[in-house]
Amino acid sequence: MTAPIRPEIAALSAYHVAPAAGMLKLDAMENPFDLPPELQAALGDRLGRAAINRYPDPQASGVQARLRQAMAIAPQYDVLLGNGSDELIQILAMAIARPGAKLLALEPSFVMYRMIATFCGLDYIGVPLNADFSLNLEAMLDAIRLQQPQLIFIAYPNNPTGNQFDAAAIEAILDAAQGLVVVDEAYHAFADDSFLSRLDRYDNLLVMRTLSKLGLAGLRLGFLIGQPRWIGELDKLRLPYNINILSQQAAEFALDHIDVFTGQAQLLRQERKRLFDALDQLPGVTPYPSQANFILARVGNACATFTALKTAGILIKNLHGGHPLLDNCLRFTVGSPAENDRVLSALPAALVNQ
Ligand SMILES: *Cc1c(COP(=O)(O)O)cnc(C)c1O
Repeated sequence: MTAPIRPEIAALSAYHVAPAAGMLKLDAMENPFDLPPELQAALGDRLGRAAINRYPDPQASGVQARLRQAMAIAPQYDVLLGNGSDELIQILAMAIARPGAKLLALEPSFVMYRMIATFCGLDYIGVPLNADFSLNLEAMLDAIRLQQPQLIFIAYPNNPTGNQFDAAAIEAILDAAQGLVVVDEAYHAFADDSFLSRLDRYDNLLVMRTLSKLGLAGLRLGFLIGQPRWIGELDKLRLPYNINILSQQAAEFALDHIDVFTGQAQLLRQERKRLFDALDQLPGVTPYPSQANFILARVGNACATFTALKTAGILIKNLHGGHPLLDNCLRFTVGSPAENDRVLSALPAALVNQ
């Protein structure tokens, strides 16, 4: 019997989520703040009354309307909702999947672009960043010309490097690309620039965002904004009722209180600066400027420092070995002021054995 599983799937290892019970969890860019108690009570009451015996609104129109308002999405664009932006990446990949179809992304960047390309049988092309994590425009334009990818992903700001690429370089990519270009703004709440306002200038641009990094990772809600002719085609691939009723209700509630979350994002930006400056003072540590809610830093021995912090009950992300440009790099999610204090007091000892 021939093995029914495709060899490229058999060769994969599943997306790894590190166990974090009892740890200070600073590995996944989650918002550290709990919902204020009065909002918890009001949300509980609302979810208790949700009609869970019924299928949810297939369009999630209440969420759509509030997102449009909260994110100032112009009426001429459509919005596609996904069970996390991961699902939207998958929908985009499925839409272009045919023999020889190509998905292009920068490296290092969000690993799901490559993984989902493999899931969907696409050829994946990774274009390396420069050593300072800036975008290598010449290499990108060469790859676009030679490979003619149907789909390009650019994380803006980029994960795991935290920087925002040169906007003019992305515009040059939009001009050169024959296919769709998705600007992934997962960290929009912490960044100074966005491509949303550039949608009217580029026919092939789609802007993707998520509520995850804003403080609602548990809901799983991502959204893709673009011209109706693209969103209309992609919507055909969305499984019916992909946003469950509890997520819809909770997202509506959260978007009605968006100020709470944007206020927290503001505080995290201040903490990002404080954490950056403190890391910069530590001998042997090179933090990289970030427009996201995490900071990438290079140390003398990432594995030793990662293990020492873990022993101290602090879980961050060790990126060493993931990509040559990330040698001895660690990624710190920006936590609450008290959490960041804990990291900063544990770090000097964790850096000793390197
Ligand atoms: C975290 C992250 C996402 C995933 O978001 P979900 O909506 O939680 O699936 C997408 N893109 C980038 C660049 C991310 O870092």
